[in-house]
Amino acid sequence: MMDDALRVLKEVFGYDRFRTPQDEVIRRLVEGQDVLVVMPTGGGKSLCYQLPALLRPGTAVVVSPLIALMQDQVSALSQWGIRAGCLNSALPFEELAATEQALRRGELDLLYIAPERLLQPRTLDLLGHCRLALFAIDEAHCVSQWGHDFRPEYLQLSRLADAFPGVPRIALTATADGRTQQEIVERLALRDAARFIQGFDRPNIRYRIGQKDRAREQLLRFLQQEHPQDAGVVYCLSRKRVEETAAWLSERGFNALPYHAGLPAELRAHHQHRFLTEEGLVMVATIAFGMGIDKPNVRFVAHLDLPKSIEAYYQETGRAGRDGLPADAWMVYGLQDVIFLRQMLESSQAPELQKQIERQKLEAMLGLCEITSCRRQTLLAYFGENDHSPCGNCDTCLEPVPIWDGTEVARKALSAVYRSGQRFGVNHVIDILIGQASDKVRERGHDRISTFGIGKELDRNQWRSVFRQLVARGYLGVDAQGHGVLHLSERCRPLLRGEEVLELRHEERKAAGKQSRFSRGSAPQSKLDAADYALWNDLRSARKALADDQGVPPYVIFH
Ligand code: ADP
Ligand code: MG
Repeated sequence: MMDDALRVLKEVFGYDRFRTPQDEVIRRLVEGQDVLVVMPTGGGKSLCYQLPALLRPGTAVVVSPLIALMQDQVSALSQWGIRAGCLNSALPFEELAATEQALRRGELDLLYIAPERLLQPRTLDLLGHCRLALFAIDEAHCVSQWGHDFRPEYLQLSRLADAFPGVPRIALTATADGRTQQEIVERLALRDAARFIQGFDRPNIRYRIGQKDRAREQLLRFLQQEHPQDAGVVYCLSRKRVEETAAWLSERGFNALPYHAGLPAELRAHHQHRFLTEEGLVMVATIAFGMGIDKPNVRFVAHLDLPKSIEAYYQETGRAGRDGLPADAWMVYGLQDVIFLRQMLESSQAPELQKQIERQKLEAMLGLCEITSCRRQTLLAYFGENDHSPCGNCDTCLEPVPIWDGTEVARKALSAVYRSGQRFGVNHVIDILIGQASDKVRERGHDRISTFGIGKELDRNQWRSVFRQLVARGYLGVDAQGHGVLHLSERCRPLLRGEEVLELRHEERKAAGKQSRFSRGSAPQSKLDAADYALWNDLRSARKALADDQGVPPYVIFH
């Protein structure tokens, strides 16, 4: 049987091998067992029922709540020469009639259908007269009342168990914690279901995130030391930076190609083809690259710029190590990235609600950058997997970040921001903290407020590091208009109330003493912070610096 499966995989779908656990899922289903599959988006769930649809006699009925996607799937399948059709309310009568007729004659391999239509007596009756290969229930988490995607129609799908007792059913979803999995099995009345739960964890990927400090040089060292011959992807935000970085790496002996949506389609296709077929190619790309790319031996994914969300980071880094062998997810980021992404966000035409969501996503991404505990734990917790212990295969596990109890200084910092009216940038607030009676401080009378001089235990650079971390972790916000004005955020409350302990990264010790892998041979951390803060404090100069650096206006550069 599995020989047949492999043959169909190659001949019909054009893939060389199964991804785990596709082969096992397919075997069970073809043998007639019910199956539950939980696999991240992009993992390859569709194949788990599309291939059995061809191996088992009769038509496979696929239940999906997404009418828009049905049509795409049907077109894609048709291109592979698979006979597929769909029934949904968006289709004209003639088309529905034609599909029903094909179904009756047993001429369909797959039938996509919306749940409410499937459950109409007429449809059930029609299906009762057909030979059915299997039922696939996609987006099966919709059956869960606790989830945010609950669809009442999905509850009725349990009727399939009685109406079609001999037809195996497979339920698939990308998101289901333990409770939801149990709910799916019960509410769909799956019998002795084999469960294949592939969480979000990609244990062979080693996550590393460092401070940006002449990013290209850092990248070069990383490639030379760890991946001199390997295939990998380097993600950049702008097209210009993509091209420059590709050229720069090529000059240094790497086989690097650019890829972004601004290149002619043929050239893009050519570069993609080379990346897939040649060994050891480095693709320098914007996020335009990657959808549907399935190259098993990508040994690293490097980010020279901060992705705008954890979802994006996960998806992009997830292109590394599909073969299960060790791979690196390597990233450097700086506050310029944050400023830049925030500017993009604020200047977009999106509705306020969407911007709010995007702001939160960016904050979460920054949180991942700044944590002092296991990166993988944080990443997985973001996707709802809360039961992982520290992984031992990320930078913070392998090389614990020196930390210190920053609760007290954080409270001082927050209080200085608050007492000065939440109308100033970081330099001014630091002046207040360290008791520096600058002209501006005296002018505003801030040398007479209670927080003046309360933070003498740290120097200016140390305070900068504290502020960077407070911003990155969402305790402090920066105004969107571009003046670098700090304000307290909701997130501060527990800290100010003394209900939270804050661990901060000990940046200074890192720079002075033991060099981290990221900053080996690089300039001291404090210098970087100073540069970051100069930018941060004056967004106009930041904007200009970015424009100079990247040669493009800091807008409209996503592909
Ligand atoms: P999901 O439904 O889990 O989000 P899809 O079924 O849409 O994922 O598959 C994601 C991508 O992976 C598709 O481009 C698909 O063609 C590809 N894919 C699936 N299985 C394989 C395989 N065994 N080998 C190569 N590519 C695959
Ligand atoms: Mg899918």
